[in-house]
Amino acid sequence: MLDMKPVCERCNRELQADTTDAFICSYECTFCNDCTESALQNRCPNCGGELIRRPRRNAKSPSQSTDEYAS
Ligand SMILES: [Zn+2]
Ligand SMILES: [Zn+2]
Repeated sequence: MLDMKPVCERCNRELQADTTDAFICSYECTFCNDCTESALQNRCPNCGGELIRRPRRNAKSPSQSTDEYAS
């Protein structure tokens, strides 16, 4: 289970568990999309790791496409 930090570590913007605007690095440093894409350039300022979009808690995985299984 990820440690879902509730705010951006840079600007303290609130980041809900179900937001799509949160980015994390592999050490779970957490930033908002604005900081990540502009100021940070997708690079964690703490550890230098790549920032990726944080998966949402309770995110359902809709079985909309099973094409991968067909091939
Ligand atoms: Zn921020
Ligand atoms: Zn980091």
